[in-house]
Order: sequence, then structure tokens, then C-alpha cells
Amino acid sequence: MSLLAARNLARHYGGIAAVSGVSFTVEKGEVRAIIGPNGAGKTTLVGMISGRIQPTAGSVWFNDRDITRLPSWQRVGQGIVYTFQVTSIYRNLTCFENVALAAQRRVGGRPAAIAAAVAAALTQVGLPDEANRQAGVLPYGHQRLLEVAMALALKPELLILDEPTQGLAPAEVASFCDLVRRVAESATVLLIEHNLKVVLELAHRITVMNRGAILAEGSPGEIEQHPAVQRAYLGQ
Ligand code: ATP
Repeated sequence: MSLLAARNLARHYGGIAAVSGVSFTVEKGEVRAIIGPNGAGKTTLVGMISGRIQPTAGSVWFNDRDITRLPSWQRVGQGIVYTFQVTSIYRNLTCFENVALAAQRRVGGRPAAIAAAVAAALTQVGLPDEANRQAGVLPYGHQRLLEVAMALALKPELLILDEPTQGLAPAEVASFCDLVRRVAESATVLLIEHNLKVVLELAHRITVMNRGAILAEGSPGEIEQHPAVQRAYLGQ
């Protein structure tokens, strides 16, 4: 049984097929990357998996259960957590408060349980000393880490990261890769990522999308060698 399965998923906007009939599976414990040129349909596809976007056709299965009609907040309860392309932290709140908002959804209102969950999540992303700082004054790279801490506080079974390294400095990208590896010890990760070096380093398998469809799928070695991928994605 796969952790996640998309079956003939499609999303149309007027006459445009953002995603047209995509089927794929993700196994438990995998780090799966989705790559492809701008407009390929990556964000639309993960939006349908997280429940942010309703499919025009097809179905989404998680732990062998049809979740196609489940709203996104209920999918979070099932273990599917999505972090946005653009940072979605509360800038006027402290880091502690930001993560606490997420943590309380999982552990309820007990202050000690919230504090423990927040401390664990901030430590996991390397921000244990920033708990009392206002989120909006953190450097951009740390804001993105805070966003991941908010996701981790929900104890995801499937963590979806949409372009997590966008806007990060090279040193921050390296530590982000370390973080994803640590997260992957306890969660399955689905990653949309434009930085091919990051993808080749982190992903167990790579799904390549182009024009709303899957162009290729395979190990990093297979994808690097794939002629259609080199043409469509690597521009070779
Ligand atoms: P990027 O790498 O630029 O984020 P992407 O691969 O994530 O691109 P999508 O954002 O999923 O691609 O978009 C796929 C196609 O669907 C594009 O042609 C886009 O213009 C179109 N599209 C996406 N969302 C909408 C919308 N809300 N209304 C109309 N068209 C949309």
C-alpha cells in the first residue's frame, strides 16, 4: 500500500488544463521531488493533494483512504501538512507564538504540552534560541525555517514543501538540506524544488512534470540521464 496515490487527477481553469490526468504514488518514508518548468502544474498538483485546490476530475488517496472531498484542515488532521511558496508566518507574533498556534491544533490547550511541542519543533529547525523574538524581524532564511517548525509541530506524516529553498543564501540551502534529511527520518516528504542540485541530493525519486502531465519519473541518476528531461527541463 502506498502512502499517497493520485489517480487521474485533473484541474482545468476555463480552457486551460493546469493538470491533466496525473497518476502517481508516493511510498512511506520517501523524499519525493517534483520538478518541471514554470507553469508545469506542480503547485496545482500539490494543491490538490493538500486540499487547497479541488480537482476537476480524479481522486487522491492517503493511507488507502479516498480523501478527494476532504477539506484541507481535515487533511492536516490526517497527517498531510503543506508549507506555502510564500512565507505565511504571523510577523507580529513571536516565534514561540507562531509555532504554538500550530501545536495547539495537535496537542490541545494544555500549556505544558504546547510549550514542549514548540520547543521540540524550534530545536528541530535550529531556532531554539529565537523563541521570544518577533517573527517579522528574523532574517528571511530563518522565517522559512520557522514556517517549517510550524509544520513540524503538527507532526506530519506527509510534509509538502513548495519551493522551500527559494530566496535562501547558499549556506542556508545547505542547512535546509540537512533539515529535510532529519525530517525525513520520521515523515514522508514531497518537495517542489527548482534547485536541481538540491533535488538530486535529497530525493529518493523524482517526478518530472511538463504541461500538466508527468514527463518522467525515476531515481536521481535516471532523471539526470533522461533525454526528454534534458530537453524539457535542463534546456540541453
Ligand atoms: P511554477 O514553477 O511557476 O510555480 P507550476 O509548475 O507550479 O509553476 P502551476 O502554478 O500549477 O505551475 O500552474 C499550471 C498552469 O495552470 C499555468 O499555466 C498557470 O497559469 C495555470 N493556473 C494555475 N492556477 C490558475 C488559476 N487559479 N487560474 C487560472 N490559471 C491557473
